[in-house]
Amino acid sequence: MTDPKYDLHCHSNYSDGSLSPTELVLRAKEQGVSTLALTDHDTVQGLFEAQQAAEQQAINFIPGIELSCLWNKKTFHVLGLNIDANNAELLAGTDQLQIIRLERAKKIATKLEKNKIPGAFEAVQNAAGAGMITRPHFANFLINQGHVSTMQSAFDHYLGQGKPAFVNTQWVELEDAVHWIKAAGGIAVLAHPMRYKLTASWMRRFLTAFKELGGLGIEVITARSNPDEIRRTIHFARQFELFGSIGSDFHSPKNQWVELGRLAPMPTNIRPVWELFTN
Ligand code: AMP
Ligand code: MN
Ligand code: MN
Ligand code: MN
Repeated sequence: MTDPKYDLHCHSNYSDGSLSPTELVLRAKEQGVSTLALTDHDTVQGLFEAQQAAEQQAINFIPGIELSCLWNKKTFHVLGLNIDANNAELLAGTDQLQIIRLERAKKIATKLEKNKIPGAFEAVQNAAGAGMITRPHFANFLINQGHVSTMQSAFDHYLGQGKPAFVNTQWVELEDAVHWIKAAGGIAVLAHPMRYKLTASWMRRFLTAFKELGGLGIEVITARSNPDEIRRTIHFARQFELFGSIGSDFHSPKNQWVELGRLAPMPTNIRPVWELFTN
């Protein structure tokens, strides 16, 4: 028996990933993942297909989501793990987020138009299909139209904060995001804690609020984290008695630096979030 391999954070083409839920599960199987959570941005639409594919591949599947929310006017991503994808409160929340994303996409397209780049809204809407429209959809459009050559340069020149097509988005509040996850029976986990560039004291303020709202976990290991980031995250996890999660944040096979399941092991002094996966 080989060791179990967890990957509790990845994306399908129902948000900004490039693989369908089925393709994602097949790839996870190839990579030896034994427990996989699909965590698309603000939507549960891919979960049913992924669950079915996982049953066929004998992979343990954890229904998940990655919610975009605001705390102190700053954007944070909170994972909901082991959610009931049929929960009415959660679905009302994702409906709200879908409208927020649609309205934001219109605003981004208008800004691009002012920069002499027309047609973005129709293009991203077609590309996203039934799923969520995300900035990577705009980045792909800008690449396809020859305005930039990479995803990174699309963010650097157009889509990133302070760039010509950046839109300051009114996501839902952290309080609501955590509440919906709890309502759906899920576990709220702070995603990629080092990506927000918070000082230690702001991180403590955030985690104090997160804990008070019912947040239970923190992503200790992600694909890109370096040893120093892991060390700092372990410190916060222990200080705030949070369960640890591990996830690649896989989006596409095109990114050769990130692979499903290719992750450092959970540090031994951290309680793994999967201890809470009882049902
Ligand atoms: P959105 O939630 O629509 O604002 O899109 C955010 C997503 O864009 C993140 O989940 C990443 O997948 C991707 N992203 C953010 N910043 C960058 C960047 N600098 N380069 C490439 N992808 C990025
Ligand atoms: Mn993403
Ligand atoms: Mn994220
Ligand atoms: Mn993600």
